[in-house]
Amino acid sequence: MNSAESSALERVLRERGWEAAPQGNTADLVLLSTCSVRQTAETRLFGRLAQYQALKKNLHREGKKPFTLVVSGCMASRLGEKLKEDFSAVDYVVDTASRSILPRILDALETGGTCTAPEEGAAFSFSSFHLEEGAFRSFLPIMHGCNNFCSYCIVPYVRGREVSRDPASIAEEIALLARRGVREITLLGQNVNSYRWENLDFSGLLRRIAGYLEGTSIERVRFLSANPRNFSPETAAVMAEHPCFCRHLHLPVQHGSNRVLGAMNRRYTRESYLALTEELRRAMANISFSTDILVGFPGETEEELEETLDLMAQVKFLHAYMYHFNPREGTAAFSLPRRIPEALKRERLGRVIALQKQHTVELLQARLGSTERILIEGISRKNAEELIGRTERDEMVVIPRGNVQAGTFVEAVLVSLRGNTFRGRLLCPGGSLD
Ligand code: SF4
Repeated sequence: MNSAESSALERVLRERGWEAAPQGNTADLVLLSTCSVRQTAETRLFGRLAQYQALKKNLHREGKKPFTLVVSGCMASRLGEKLKEDFSAVDYVVDTASRSILPRILDALETGGTCTAPEEGAAFSFSSFHLEEGAFRSFLPIMHGCNNFCSYCIVPYVRGREVSRDPASIAEEIALLARRGVREITLLGQNVNSYRWENLDFSGLLRRIAGYLEGTSIERVRFLSANPRNFSPETAAVMAEHPCFCRHLHLPVQHGSNRVLGAMNRRYTRESYLALTEELRRAMANISFSTDILVGFPGETEEELEETLDLMAQVKFLHAYMYHFNPREGTAAFSLPRRIPEALKRERLGRVIALQKQHTVELLQARLGSTERILIEGISRKNAEELIGRTERDEMVVIPRGNVQAGTFVEAVLVSLRGNTFRGRLLCPGGSLD
């Protein structure tokens, strides 16, 4: 979500003729687009703010014009004007609902004027276009905020209640992306299955999107994140019916114990989660799953951890984002008793990670020899002679560079594995399928 919002902010700047400065001390504007979902992201931002504060002081001392420092995003929503109190170098704090003030800040910078703070309580509005310059894949936010209040999560407090995006605006962005030759879109929301616009629910939106894509360059659609609590059978049916929906689903389970899921306020059970993955596999035999797993929640027992390991063994996730509980002030879980000691949390997390690594390797090895359609994303960071791409199941594949261009689809046989990345042999050597 943060990445989509950052791309939209960058677009506003570029459309007004702004260009990236090589470094902060030569910039007229420093815009920090922040996320506060994890404590580590916040801690990193405080470090960056301290650096910019020192840089600004130096520029003042040298008699040079300092840059304007703007903080936007979740942290701006959470900490508001306190950021200015703690870091005097911050000129503007723009929360997620007030991003429309950015053009006014730019007006002020371009004319040497000043900009007044936005009114409090402004409603969230979606940016119209989120494509990163030159990319073939794009995020496309369809909703914002969350009503779920999982007991460990700060998102509902910093992003506010759920707001769905007008389907007409979604259709317009899709048309724009198709005109730019985009090949894959990822629909974004904290909980996409809660999407609702009048009588249109998420499955209805997916059906419409499948229709919009016909005859366009966009062949693949993913979505993030789907909450297991309200994933409807209709959504599974629409996915199965339309091949544009990738056979991969990120379905955050968080834990395998019903007691812990209850304490997390997740509002589903391990049984309903397992039934959902089975139903999805029945509808789409080749679907892969990824997930989030939160270890060391207050009061977690050894047996409850074992339940998580058991659930992982039953589902076999292709990959997982695994982390341990870190109390966030302001959330319900912050004051829960029976916190797990740090060393034990780390030890348990290590066991979860080890099991996941084993599953990832098993699943990937079972795919060797299969032929896959791969969307080429660009040059491999590890070897400039290779291109890297992705299967619809969210597996990474490198192929020899040849004459293939980024943004094209190729067919390749998965011949070997290097870490978690396949090496592929092109079926149509040197060429793409488009
Ligand atoms: S569903 Fe739960 S974990 Fe996800 S954003 Fe909402 S409150 Fe946070």
